[in-house]
Amino acid sequence: MKPAPFGFAKARSVDEAIALLSQHADARLLAGGQSLIATLNMRLSAPKLLIDINGLDELKRITIKDGMVEIGALVRHAQAEQSAEIARHAPLIARALPHIAHPAIRNRGTIGGSIAFADPAAELPACLLALGGEVVIANATGARTVPADAFFTGLFETALGFGDVLTAIRVPAAAQASRYGFAELARRHGDYAMVGLAAAACADGKALHDVRLAFFGVDATPLRAHAAEDAIEHGEDALAALAQDLDPQGDVQASGAAKRHLAGVLLRRVMAQLAEPRS
Ligand code: FAD
Repeated sequence: MKPAPFGFAKARSVDEAIALLSQHADARLLAGGQSLIATLNMRLSAPKLLIDINGLDELKRITIKDGMVEIGALVRHAQAEQSAEIARHAPLIARALPHIAHPAIRNRGTIGGSIAFADPAAELPACLLALGGEVVIANATGARTVPADAFFTGLFETALGFGDVLTAIRVPAAAQASRYGFAELARRHGDYAMVGLAAAACADGKALHDVRLAFFGVDATPLRAHAAEDAIEHGEDALAALAQDLDPQGDVQASGAAKRHLAGVLLRRVMAQLAEPRS
């Protein structure tokens, strides 16, 4: 199918993108286009104006500052995958990136686009949540940060509002005691996950604290498994506790019961990863 007619503007600065968004009630930012263009072609959305932000070099940087890794919204998945800074300071994200789609899509798709699109089966929103990261947003009144725990508000819905541009995400840089786990099950490599799990924790000898488990593909948003987190911290049965956290509905990929079972399988795998010191 072909998209409905739309206007096109190329923003030369974040301020100009904000101004264009604020002037047009039915405008949409165009980043990598890997999700947006598909929705236009299928006529699932029909914005009147696309605002191309691909020329905004200030959104393409990766910086490490004050114990945080800041990844600009226009950093493409492939750029992040090849980044030595991400590998060293945000290893959970480095582990998740190769699971996103295929190289051609990762060459265009952006970190900001993935977070803004907020697909419930996507890897990066779950990583952001597991890491306790935050989203940096600019609009006509200035800039604000929203913690990941408050950012994903519903199915494909986020804290982004009218006139907002997501400019970056920030996650805590890995420390000596940081532990990470990542696992997903997909029908074919590169497909959206049937179920996935991103996890972060802090090790103190054999004990783990600050455990954050973020499942994806099991609910309308990436989902913290608080009961299982507590169980891990207290040396209790995390698999039994997980039943309190998840009530997955079936979708085209798997039934709710299958997802519940697979979530347990992934939790076991990720707990084994968290138990190992990082190499
Ligand atoms: P776009 O498509 O350009 O935009 C997506 C939405 O976000 C639009 O509404 C847009 O207006 C908004 N937006 C973009 N940037 C900003 C910003 N800076 N501020 C505010 N709003 C913004 N993703 C996965 O996570 N896992 C997968 O397994 C996976 N498989 C895929 C398979 C296929 C075949 C395809 C086509 C895509 C797949 N994707 C997958 C999606 C891919 O990761 C996309 O790149 C990503 O979801 C959107 O990023 P984008 O830069 O392409 O955003």
